[in-house]
Amino acid sequence: MRHVTVLGATGSIGTSTLEVLALHPDRYRVHALTAHRSRETLLAQCRVHRPAVAVLEAEGDAAWLRERLAEAGLATEVRAGADAQVEVAEAAEVDTVMAAIVGAAGLLPTLAAVRAGKRVLLANKEALVMSGALFMDAVARHDATLLPIDSEHNAIYQCLPVEHRGGLARHGVTQLLLTASGGPFRGWTSSDLAAVTPDQACAHPNWSMGRKISVDSATLMNKGLELIEACWLFDARPDQIQVVVHPQSVIHSMAAYSDGSVIAQLGNPDMRTPIAYGLAWPERIAAGVEALDLFQVARLDFEPADESAFPCLRLAREAMAAGGTAPAVLNAANEVAVEAFLDGRLGFTGIGELVARVRDARPVEPAQDLETILEADALARQAAHAWLARR
Ligand code: NAD
Ligand code: MG
Repeated sequence: MRHVTVLGATGSIGTSTLEVLALHPDRYRVHALTAHRSRETLLAQCRVHRPAVAVLEAEGDAAWLRERLAEAGLATEVRAGADAQVEVAEAAEVDTVMAAIVGAAGLLPTLAAVRAGKRVLLANKEALVMSGALFMDAVARHDATLLPIDSEHNAIYQCLPVEHRGGLARHGVTQLLLTASGGPFRGWTSSDLAAVTPDQACAHPNWSMGRKISVDSATLMNKGLELIEACWLFDARPDQIQVVVHPQSVIHSMAAYSDGSVIAQLGNPDMRTPIAYGLAWPERIAAGVEALDLFQVARLDFEPADESAFPCLRLAREAMAAGGTAPAVLNAANEVAVEAFLDGRLGFTGIGELVARVRDARPVEPAQDLETILEADALARQAAHAWLARR
C-alpha cells in the first residue's frame, strides 16, 4: 500500500490523479489533499477520498471546511497556510507526493518532498525551472525518486534506458526530440496574435489544462519551460534538445540514438497515462485511458516551431544558457505576465515583451542557495509589476 499526498489536488492534474487513485484502492491510500482557495472542490474530494489531512491557504477557508467535514462525520484534520503544504509533503506517513501546484508557489512543498526522500511525481515544472541545479542536487543527496509527469518528459523517461544518469552521450543518446502541439495559434503571425483573448488562448486543441499552463502553451513559453525542465531532468544541454511541432499530440516525445534509432512514446493526449506511470513505476497499472486507435489518428505531422511569432521559446532557451538565476527570473516575469493577460491588463504579445524587459532589467546571479533564488523571483516580480504600471 502506498500513501499519497496530492499537492494541488483541486486542479487539472490533481483531479486526474485522484481519478487514477480511485481505480486502485487496493494499492493507494490518500494521506493528504491540498488546495489554494477552492474549498468546495476540496470538500467534495475529502468526502470521496477521506484523507487524514486537508490543507487550504487561508484560515477562514480551513475553518469553513472543518465545519463541513465535522457535519459529514469525517475525521479529516484541516490545516491552513503555506507551512502546512510543506508539512504534508514531508510527512513520515507519506511515501509518494504528487507535486501539482501551479507556479512558484509549488517550489517549497515540492522541494520538501524531495528532501524527505519521497517518490516525487513532478507536474509542477516551474519548481524545477526556478531551482534546477539545487533541486537535482537535493534529489541525489536525499535519494528521492523523481518521476516526470509532464507528458513530454514522461515520454522521454520511458524512451531512455532505465539507468540514464551520467549524461546522455554515455548511453548513446544523441538528441531528445521534444514534441509540441503548437498550441491554439499555430500558424498565426504576430499581427494576428495581437488581439487574442484569454478564452481563445485557453482553448487548447488537444489538452484540457489549468489556465496558466494553457496560456503558456499558446505563447510556447510552456515549451520553453519544458526545454529547461528536460535539461535538468536528463542532464542535457539545450543544443541536445530539438523542439518538434506535432499538431496531433499523439507522440509525446522521443529519444534519438547514435545508431540511428529513434524511440517514441505514443498515446492519447490524456494526463492520466503519465500519472499512472509515475504512481506505479516500475510496474504498469490501468489509467482509465482509452486505447490509442492509430487508424483514427491516420497521420502524424511534424514541423519546426515559429520562434519569430512566438519569442518565448527563444527567451527560455537563452535563460537556460545564461544559467544561475536567469530561469527563475524568466519564470517569475512570465507568471506576472500571464496573470496580467488573464485579467485583461496585458495583450497576448505583451507577455513575451514583458518577459524580455524583466530579463534585461535583472542581473544573472549564481543560484547557489534557495534564498538567492527566492530573492531573484521576488525582484523579478517587482520589476514586472513596475513595468506594467509604467506602461
Ligand atoms: P490548475 O490551475 O488546474 O491547478 C493548480 C492547483 O494548485 C490547484 O489545486 C490550486 O488550488 C493549487 N494552487 C494554486 N496556487 C496555489 C498556492 N499559492 N498554494 C497552494 N496551492 C496552490 O493547474 P494544472 O493545469 O493542474 O497544473 C498544475 C501543474 O502541473 C503546473 O505546474 C503545470 O505546468 C503542470 N502541468 C499540467 C499539465 C496539465 O495537463 N494540466 C500538464 C503538464 C504539466
Ligand atoms: Mg507538457
